[in-house]
Amino acid sequence: MSGTLRVLPLGGLGEIGKNMTVVEYDGRIVVVDVGLRFPTADMLGIDLVLPDFSYLRERVDDIEAIVVTHGHEDHLGALPWVLRELGADRIPVVHGGPLTLAMARSKLDEHRLRDVTLEDLDVGERVELGPFELELVHMTHSIPDSCAVALRTELGTVLLTGDYKFDQTPVDGQPADVARLAELGSEGVLLLCGDSTNADRAGFSPSESGVGPHLEEVFARCEGRIVVTSFASNIHRVQQVVDAADALGRKVALVGRSMRKNVNIGRSLGHIDVPQGMLVQPREIDDLPDDRLVIISTGSQGEPLSALRRMAHNDHPRVRLHDGDTVVFSATPVPGNERAVNETVDRLYHIGCDVITARDAPVHASGHGFVEELKLMLNLVRPRYVLPVHGDHKRIHLHSRLAEAVGIASKDIFRGENGLPLDIDGRGARFGDHERSGMIFVDGVDIGDPADVALRDRRMLSADGILIVVATVGEQDGRSVAEPELIFRGVPFLDGEEDLEGELRGAVVASLARCADDRIREVDLLQQELHDDLAAFVYDRLRRRPMVLPVVVEV
Ligand SMILES: [Zn+2]
Ligand SMILES: [Zn+2]
Repeated sequence: MSGTLRVLPLGGLGEIGKNMTVVEYDGRIVVVDVGLRFPTADMLGIDLVLPDFSYLRERVDDIEAIVVTHGHEDHLGALPWVLRELGADRIPVVHGGPLTLAMARSKLDEHRLRDVTLEDLDVGERVELGPFELELVHMTHSIPDSCAVALRTELGTVLLTGDYKFDQTPVDGQPADVARLAELGSEGVLLLCGDSTNADRAGFSPSESGVGPHLEEVFARCEGRIVVTSFASNIHRVQQVVDAADALGRKVALVGRSMRKNVNIGRSLGHIDVPQGMLVQPREIDDLPDDRLVIISTGSQGEPLSALRRMAHNDHPRVRLHDGDTVVFSATPVPGNERAVNETVDRLYHIGCDVITARDAPVHASGHGFVEELKLMLNLVRPRYVLPVHGDHKRIHLHSRLAEAVGIASKDIFRGENGLPLDIDGRGARFGDHERSGMIFVDGVDIGDPADVALRDRRMLSADGILIVVATVGEQDGRSVAEPELIFRGVPFLDGEEDLEGELRGAVVASLARCADDRIREVDLLQQELHDDLAAFVYDRLRRRPMVLPVVVEV
């Protein structure tokens, strides 16, 4: 009688970032989250990484809605690309909380995507989406308006927790809706897809509201200017910095585009309250005495173009840091960003700043629940099946163990991966066949394939360098008439290869002679042939693939 429920994670499993899950019932689809990931160091020149959502390309007309749990980039960031690629007019509606959708709207404006239906939902409100009934449940996290998503079908309810912690004393006084979670649990939850981020941290996560007093303590010891860096979306953290600054009679300047943008959105929706006259413009920074100012800045992850990174390199148009300034990192590096953060910290010391990180003082609290909170979620919801999400393989594994520890049978716990659908019907739950999943790289605003030429070129250049060959050929017969010039840049393993240059010159001459015999005269074609011959030759000798750029000059 009832059909098959399919839950297909396209991102967020076996990795931190680009969360995206397809929930399918009766041929209809609700997509939960459309996140992106920031590139790792080996993805040179790549700006963003999106989940491969090819699966949805052939299924666009089956999509009932996209639902976004909260405004973080790893849940919302891919929305403009997903809408543009799938056709914004073919997605009936995007649902989420008011702040989440305000952030979505500002993103879509930047991408000039205006004809999109964004519909705020209040928590507890229920909407019909084809065979689904959707309800958002209020949760606490490091951004206001974070929700769990309940999708009810005739087969049962899927609960996707989104990112959450059980903060008993959140800054806005609105703890997670534990009562509703328990109700859903007693109505019966078929499948729980739970956040695994901190499945490796014992106990309960500290409350966000504990951070404020520590910030104030740190601030009280500072004599110079204070720069606090945090995620721009961590509105409650910004509020606590503002409060601590206020308590010590310091004014606040916001630096960095996303910081200014998010604080504006947060203020307009009433999530952040800045006393009258307290904000100063970045251009007024130098007018204030050092001990009267707190700067709140982007760049907590050492992002290359961020305000803090530019300050650290003495390259910020408004802020020139100096001896006596203190920089407070009110954030911890996301895995993969440690190096960039360390480098920024070191530059700051070099300038003469003091640096305080979460290791030195409790100036940060995670937005993701620790082990006891994950167990609490499992116990409140009492799901029939569990699919841990949002974590690398280690955390997925640890989360699965927690589920077993609270009494869920191991056969009902599914350790998934991206592209592996979990199919549930009246007979039970099992993994289906792999669907396409992976990464799409974004370079600037274009959308490309991993095989994208630019990326390949940059990778080659960075790893294996470049070889430029200038060959001079006679116009009459196309044979080499002068010693070919060779220019190597960044090609490894050239040491001890003194013979290589001579052999390469020989290879150039031989290649040109072969072309002459084959009556290949066109410069473009000659260059192509030279490229292929030389690339093969160099690979044979060095096991490296430098970019080979032949230049043929006719005389
Ligand atoms: Zn997340
Ligand atoms: Zn989040």
